Amino acid sequence: MKLTIGHLYPDLLNLYGDRGNIQCMMKRCEWRGIEAETIAYRLEDPIDFDKLDIVLLGGGSDREQMLVCSRLKEIRKDFKKFVETDGVVLAICGGYQLLGKFYETKDGRIDGLGLVDLYTVQKKGRLIRNIVIQSDLFERPIVGFENHGGRTYINKNKPLGKVIYGKGNDGRSGHEGVIYKNVIGTYLHGPVLPKNPDLCDYILKKALERKYGSVELLPLDDTQEHEANDYIVKRYEDKVQNIKEEILRRI
Ligand code: GLN
Repeated sequence: MKLTIGHLYPDLLNLYGDRGNIQCMMKRCEWRGIEAETIAYRLEDPIDFDKLDIVLLGGGSDREQMLVCSRLKEIRKDFKKFVETDGVVLAICGGYQLLGKFYETKDGRIDGLGLVDLYTVQKKGRLIRNIVIQSDLFERPIVGFENHGGRTYINKNKPLGKVIYGKGNDGRSGHEGVIYKNVIGTYLHGPVLPKNPDLCDYILKKALERKYGSVELLPLDDTQEHEANDYIVKRYEDKVQNIKEEILRRI
């Protein structure tokens, strides 16, 4: 079995270690004896989506998003076909915003790929903090770090999870990220996959199943990853508890 990962524009979209998501996917394949290859694309490179199993779009500043936006229009048709035929996509923060119709900033509108029915509007104040969410895909919460000025509205789509601690899509809905077919959009940097191996395996499994039919992934020893995850969850659960108690004291 072999997986090919397309990393779109890492020279422009790669905030807070988003590239680590590629390393995590490659390593978890290697540990299981699954062949894996990554192709990194620069803006001017043609992309043959038929060759790809997973596409990663990382985060970027507004300026960098503006730079990739005109190129995205040119690859939109092929990218859409990939998504509609169950191609697997992980899009982080700026990349997540670009999956949608547009990202409205104070300096103008950045057109997105329009692959998922969502849009983003920049508002005052950045949403910056560690974040913990609960997805119904996994027992263990997903942890990460968010830093965005855009607020994302996912219309009728399913969120990746509910916010336990942090801000999420728009700081109000209590939702974080989006799932559409095999596309996952999320604000979580960190990088997100090494901190959340269950999410990484979910992505690998979806990609392998699209190509080879039903697949069982060999279990790996994730003791340390799970301990790190538990530690963060506990730290923020305690914080949430303290905030609740503080509010109750004030009433
Ligand atoms: N520039 C976008 C925002 O500020 C995305 C930032 C990011 O990828 N961290 O909302």
